[in-house]
Amino acid sequence: MARYTGPVCRMCRVEQKKLMLKGNRCKSDKCPINKKRPAPGKDPKGRAGKRSDYGIQLREKQKLKRIYGMLEKQFSLFFKRALRMPGITGENLFVLLERRLDNVVYRLRFASSRNQARQLVLHGHILVNGKKITIPSYIVNPENEVSVAEKSKNMTVIKDSLKEFGKSGVMPWISLDPDAMKGKFLASPRRSDITDLGDIKEQMIIELYSK
Ligand code: SF4
Repeated sequence: MARYTGPVCRMCRVEQKKLMLKGNRCKSDKCPINKKRPAPGKDPKGRAGKRSDYGIQLREKQKLKRIYGMLEKQFSLFFKRALRMPGITGENLFVLLERRLDNVVYRLRFASSRNQARQLVLHGHILVNGKKITIPSYIVNPENEVSVAEKSKNMTVIKDSLKEFGKSGVMPWISLDPDAMKGKFLASPRRSDITDLGDIKEQMIIELYSK
């Protein structure tokens, strides 16, 4: 499976936004965004030229794509799928992204970042309804149970993540039993429920792909 292998923090610096791609480090003083370093290639004195509509739309798409750790081809396939679904395309896109198995594993606090969650899925540590699934983009359905495989329950990375992040609870569309290392994707969230992604303007993404 193709994935981005370049410097992770650079993506946040380009977007000038915390995309929370590195777990604990993102909350620490080591995060370069906290140090207010200018974006790569930008005027260090902050003099910015006016962005075109296309430039703004592109940045919104890149932010969302990077938050969910996807490459262009897969992201555009998700967009096309959202377009075919009944309802509002922007909402559909967010719902589909939230239903990705790697995202659900992250939301369940089994991993401290979506990237780490993807590795857990790829290496066979995650079960959906008791069956091993190794596809990070697998779409989880409402009422599906997502759990850590029995052989993987002693993994430090999972235990540490649950300990560190489990305290802050889970999103309302997820239920978690941290002792049993399992949880449920209760229902698809509404766009307004997804409050931790900042001000992503999905309309801009729709306009970009409509060109
Ligand atoms: Fe790096 Fe996380 Fe800060 Fe982004 S939010 S720059 S991934 S430490």
